Amino acid sequence: MKAVFFKLVFIVLVQWTAASQNTELTPTKTSPLDSVPSEDLKQKTLDVSGDSNELSLLFIGDFMGHLDQINAAYDKVSGNYNYDSTFRKITPILSDADVTIGNLEVTLGVTPYSGYPQFSSPPAYAAAIKKSGVDVLVTANNHSCDKRKKGVEKTIAILDSLNIGHTGTFINTESKQTSPAYVIEKNNLRIAIINYTYGTNSIPPSSPNIVNYLEKERVSKDVDAVNTLIKPDQIIAFVHWGDQYKDLPNTTQKEWFEYFKSLGVNIVIGAHPHVLQPMEWRSKTALNSASLVVYSLGNFVSHQRTFPRDGGAVLKLALKKSGEGVEIKSVGYHLIWVHEFLVENNKHYDVLSVKDFEATPDYFSKKEDYDKLIRFSTHARKLLLEHNINIEEY
Ligand SMILES: [Zn+2]
Repeated sequence: MKAVFFKLVFIVLVQWTAASQNTELTPTKTSPLDSVPSEDLKQKTLDVSGDSNELSLLFIGDFMGHLDQINAAYDKVSGNYNYDSTFRKITPILSDADVTIGNLEVTLGVTPYSGYPQFSSPPAYAAAIKKSGVDVLVTANNHSCDKRKKGVEKTIAILDSLNIGHTGTFINTESKQTSPAYVIEKNNLRIAIINYTYGTNSIPPSSPNIVNYLEKERVSKDVDAVNTLIKPDQIIAFVHWGDQYKDLPNTTQKEWFEYFKSLGVNIVIGAHPHVLQPMEWRSKTALNSASLVVYSLGNFVSHQRTFPRDGGAVLKLALKKSGEGVEIKSVGYHLIWVHEFLVENNKHYDVLSVKDFEATPDYFSKKEDYDKLIRFSTHARKLLLEHNINIEEY
C-alpha cells in the first residue's frame, strides 16, 4: 500500500516536472496535470520518469524486544499489546523506499513473553513494525532458537499471517528448497535477499526446522540454488555477524565479505554488534565489480541505553538495471536514536530521526535525553566520516 502511494506521488511529481519542462506552462499546485493532454502526458511520463528499471531498498538493523519494551507496550485496561507509538515518528523514513527490510531479533507469540536472554514478543510487535512501513524481516540471528521449535514455527506463522516477507529460518527442508531467498520483483528488477547468522547461542534448531548458518559450503550451495531457481538480477546478503559493542569490523567479517563477493554476492548488509560499524561502497574497476558492505547498522529499537547502543542507522540503496546488469545508483545512511521516556510512570520507546530531532531540544522534557541524542549522533558521524567509503548521511 505504502509503495503504491509513494509510486503515485512519484508519478505525479514526474508528470508535474514533465509538464513544466516540456510545455513551458506554469503549473499550478492545484491541478498540474490539467493543462497537458493525456496522450501527450503518457509519452512524456515514460520519457522523463525512467524509473521502470530502478528500485530503492531500505535496510534496518536490529529490532530487539527487551522486557521493558514488552511492558511499555502493554495496556492494562484492554489487556492488549500495542507498539504503534514506538514507530510513529520514524514511519516517514521507513516508508520512503520501494521495499524496506529489517532484522527481527526476537521470536514471536510464545507465551509468557520474555526479554533478554531468550526473547519472545507479542504478535502486536510485528504488526506495528509492518504498519511503520517494513515489508520484510530476516529471521536468522543468534536469538532464532530462543523459544525452540515452537518459537521458530510461530514466528514464521505470525509473519505469514501479517503478510510480512521473511527469510533466514524455515519450517523444513522442503520450505527452504522452495524459497531459498526472499524475492523482490518490482520495477523490472528481481532481487533475492538471503540471510545468515554466525550462530544461535548454542541452541540448535529442532528437526525439521532450519536456521541459515554462516558456513561456507552451505552459503555457496544456497547461492547456486538461488541462481538456478530464481535467476535474480542481484543477490543481497543480510548477515548476522561481528563482535558486540565494537566500532570496527573484525577479520572474520572482512573475510566473509570477500567470500560473498567470490560467489557474486557483492552487496552485504550486516547487523548484530548493537552499535554502528562502517559502510563501504566501491565502484567497479577493471578487475572488480562494484561492491557494498555495511558491517553493522546497529540497534534500530531496544532497551539498551548504554551509549552508543542507544541508536543506529538505516541504509537507503537505489539500484538501477541496464544492459550490463544491476548497478548501485546511490547509497546513504540516516541516523536514528531511541528515546526512552516516562509518562505518568509508564515507560515509552520512540524511534526518532536524528536529523529531525537534533534541531528541537525543546521537544525533550529532560535535557539529559537531548544530550544523549547529541552524544550518540556526534560519535556516529565521527566514526562514519572517518571510516565510510563513498557513503554519506542523508
Ligand atoms: Zn544478534
